[in-house]
Amino acid sequence: MRTSQLYAPTLRETPAEAEVISHKLMLRAGMIRKAAGGLYTYLPLAWRTLRKIMQIVREEMDAAGGQEIAMPIVQPAEIWQETGRWSVYGDEMFRVNDRHGRNFCLGPTHEEMVTTLIRDEVRSYKQLPLLLYQIQNKYRDEIRPRFGLMRGREFIMKDLYSFDKDQAGMDESYKKMYDAYWRIFDRIGLKFRPVEADNGAIGGGHSHEFTVLADAGESNIVYCDKCDYAASDEKAELLPLTAEQEEMQPLAKVSTPEAHTIELLVDFLKCDIKHTIKAVAFQTEEDEVVLAFVRGDHDVNEVKVINAIGAIDLHMAEDAAIREVGGMPGFMSPIGIKKGTKILVDTTVMNMYNAVSGANEADMHYTGVNPSRDFDKNEIIVTDIRLIKDGDPCPRCGGTVHMTRGIEAGQVFTLGTKYSKSLHATYLDEQGKEQLLMMGCYGIGVSRTMAAAIEQCNDKDGIIWPRSIAPYEVVVVPVNAKVPEQLALAEEIYEELKKAGVDTIIDDRKERAGVKFKDCDLIGYPLRITVGPKAVENDTIELKVRKNGETAEAGKAEVVAKALEMLKDL
Ligand code: ATP
Ligand code: MG
Repeated sequence: MRTSQLYAPTLRETPAEAEVISHKLMLRAGMIRKAAGGLYTYLPLAWRTLRKIMQIVREEMDAAGGQEIAMPIVQPAEIWQETGRWSVYGDEMFRVNDRHGRNFCLGPTHEEMVTTLIRDEVRSYKQLPLLLYQIQNKYRDEIRPRFGLMRGREFIMKDLYSFDKDQAGMDESYKKMYDAYWRIFDRIGLKFRPVEADNGAIGGGHSHEFTVLADAGESNIVYCDKCDYAASDEKAELLPLTAEQEEMQPLAKVSTPEAHTIELLVDFLKCDIKHTIKAVAFQTEEDEVVLAFVRGDHDVNEVKVINAIGAIDLHMAEDAAIREVGGMPGFMSPIGIKKGTKILVDTTVMNMYNAVSGANEADMHYTGVNPSRDFDKNEIIVTDIRLIKDGDPCPRCGGTVHMTRGIEAGQVFTLGTKYSKSLHATYLDEQGKEQLLMMGCYGIGVSRTMAAAIEQCNDKDGIIWPRSIAPYEVVVVPVNAKVPEQLALAEEIYEELKKAGVDTIIDDRKERAGVKFKDCDLIGYPLRITVGPKAVENDTIELKVRKNGETAEAGKAEVVAKALEMLKDL
């Protein structure tokens, strides 16, 4: 390809509408253009990268036994009504009518479609396992389409569905996909972590989100610096921390005027925050009061509280409700709360000695609180309700966890019989008995992955593509294309690189060198080969790595070999 012919209208200014780096850079590099909120046209550079991502995905899906199909995007309402999701999906679903007034949707996902496809034709265990996938546009009328390709209303997804005869088969398919996803993100060349995810109400199920590490990510994740452990901060389990043993002092009430926050209390009593106990009061959807206690420097993980008591939802408790169970807002402890009230105490709190906690009276605290001695064990639930934080010990290996932000680029999921049951998808087992198919579903956001790659790999000058998904691997730049010798030499190198199988573009524009270099950096080609006066006069051609600015020189005879060698690490 020649830059003079490439349709990549680059922009000098950053468009105001773009909030995140990937969106800004894709607009500036002439990769995408917006058609309407959350709807984009992919211009040639973006499409090349997307095709490369799709190719890697395809190869790994095929290698794992997947078979590619293409299902309709327009789906009849009836199959969604069968699973009940026609109403559950709500406003996120794009709905359309045909000329006869029949209802359809634009597929946000394809569980219904694929299950109804195979349910009449997969009859025997001999046809299993079956792994079908496709790569196509998905449609979700997101409340807030934003961040460019990160959260679009139309986006490219690879979705694979596995059908197995039993749990063991399903688990095996899951493992195959998990491993394939690992290889995909590895081949693309991104820093990522599979993060344990919630898989809703499905018993015995697994789910992982494949998360690309980047500051613009929407999810908070923790990862260990020693082992493979990673989890969303909401899901991360925690081991109880221990405190140094102290001689237990007697419980005493002290006056602490106005000290209704931990900070004020620590300031007033001049005590260590690690010796204080903090309370958070919630109410459930049925307005039942739930009191949660953690160490003063810790935070309560609401999701864990919800799971511990089996609530659907929690909100902050009203002061009056707190008083009703014997508590005093701002000065709470489990001591003296009405019997039968739900009290959750974090496991770490139970290991504390001589702590300070509220006294359930205005402006009063207890000192010498020893939870193992002073809390009524019949009235409290001791469990892990703490939110993990940077520097906590890893729950798996004892290493140290760090917090980062991540972008969910893919998710793998076991579904069990959730869809085969509602859609009556069965097979006959070895004994001729009818059984429900066991399913799994596995998505990768192809267009989101491109955006995530840019979020992770960029600098002040532009994009830094990993070689595997760069629109072109090498750019050859004649410094002054008006000089025939420079242009001719550049053309020769360009042709040779193409012959050697390198995806190459030549910047043959008669622009100033500065302009061309800026565009090359913005678009982010991994390797630039510069053909200037030195090349013509002294047979010295410069090669420059976009990622780290490293340069090398080679004569005309060696330049292709040198480029191939340098590309190996990119
Ligand atoms: P999210 O929680 O970000 O809304 P999701 O969990 O609903 O995503 P899945 O149903 O798991 O998404 O879809 C599989 C993949 O499709 C996701 O991992 C993500 O990479 C991608 N994806 C989902 N929604 C969008 C979107 N609106 N725009 C771009 N990609 C998306
Ligand atoms: Mg998901």
